[in-house]
Amino acid sequence: MASSSELFNKAQELLPGGVNSPVRACKSVGCDPLFIEKAEGSRMWSVDGQELIDYVMSWGPMMLGHGYEAIKEAAHKAVDMGASYGAPCPGEIELAEEIIKMVPSIEMVRMVNSGTEATMSALRLARGVTGRDKVLKFEGCYHGHSDCFLASAGSGLATFSIPGTPGVPEGTVKDTLLAPYNDLDAVKGVFEKEGQNIAAIIVEPVAGNMGLVLPKEGFLEGLRALCDEHGALLIFDEVITGFRVTSGGVGPRFDVTPDLTTLGKIIGGGFPVGCYGGKKEYMSRIAPCGDVYQAGTLSGNPVAMAAGVATLRSLQQQDYDALEARTLKLAQDMKAALEANGFKVSLNHIASIFTLFFTDQEVTDFESAKTGDAELYSKFYRHMREHGVNLAPSSFECTFTSFAHSEADYEATLEAVKSFKG
Ligand code: PLP
Repeated sequence: MASSSELFNKAQELLPGGVNSPVRACKSVGCDPLFIEKAEGSRMWSVDGQELIDYVMSWGPMMLGHGYEAIKEAAHKAVDMGASYGAPCPGEIELAEEIIKMVPSIEMVRMVNSGTEATMSALRLARGVTGRDKVLKFEGCYHGHSDCFLASAGSGLATFSIPGTPGVPEGTVKDTLLAPYNDLDAVKGVFEKEGQNIAAIIVEPVAGNMGLVLPKEGFLEGLRALCDEHGALLIFDEVITGFRVTSGGVGPRFDVTPDLTTLGKIIGGGFPVGCYGGKKEYMSRIAPCGDVYQAGTLSGNPVAMAAGVATLRSLQQQDYDALEARTLKLAQDMKAALEANGFKVSLNHIASIFTLFFTDQEVTDFESAKTGDAELYSKFYRHMREHGVNLAPSSFECTFTSFAHSEADYEATLEAVKSFKG
């Protein structure tokens, strides 16, 4: 089989940058990407035969590990029944039922094909419901690549220091208002000026696209109160956190109820799915029930629905508290090992997600996230990969564990960290 570098050379002739999503190219960590041949449990194998302990987990979806038996079986069975019908299928109801059962703030959902579609459509609904145009988002939060959210976004845009992007008309982002994450006073200031024009606040209730940043106490409650006061909708973008921070949405963990929630990643078990949902009162405004149009040829795809149902049902059998405790221990051990080697490290953790920032500052927003030493992270990434550990190829991303990661994986990971000298 061709090697990763041979494949990457060929891919660059055929695909922009050789990839179909920018961060994968590993440009910001100063190396070429590995091409992956297969993945199972906590591990991936490159086409070059290298085995890696994976902490990217397809950027979050593989919460049960790669190749989880129940998901594979469900998907195979669904494929045997026909890949796509363009007509309703029972799987759509089953997945909707699981989501509604597990996320208390969701009474009705619409399936789409990605997180980007979910956030874009939820905003359209919020605009339709309120008759207002403006949306407030937070610096360093990423809500997919639709035009109006590409202002001071995290993830790939943060990785490449791109403040926005050519191709987005000024008129489109003029309705996107920005505030620093965790800065309730700044949000209040925006609402004082623009309150009557704001359709929605969209927020990652736990931010995962500037590295992991947790909401300060009172931040999410404050957003809820401001939305209520000014008649705006609160949208929780849970594309990363949904079914990862708890076995449902984060709402109950922080005791805040959003009006709309967007989900993706885990709900498809590795297949392309997203959805948005919330109160029936709002969701009933979507066509054909209501007047806010949104559609999709492959939405509610039977294979993706089957994989999603198998994923959510399997997750209900898992011990989230135990995974959280194991993940915290791994993160703390990694931090201690790096500090023992003389590095300054700041750790943010929740559930099965963490980020080690190479900085001595507490990271609470995009500005403090940017104090992380990106050059040092690049070296760390390359060192870990050489030692069989696959981390996110950017300092503005998260480390994800899964129910498939074992103590042996953690020990091997820690050994690799201990030998990192910069
Ligand atoms: N929202 C959040 C919080 C995300 O992290 C992402 C992707 O990482 C998206 C939306 C977009 O999802 P997708 O890449 O499936 O379009």
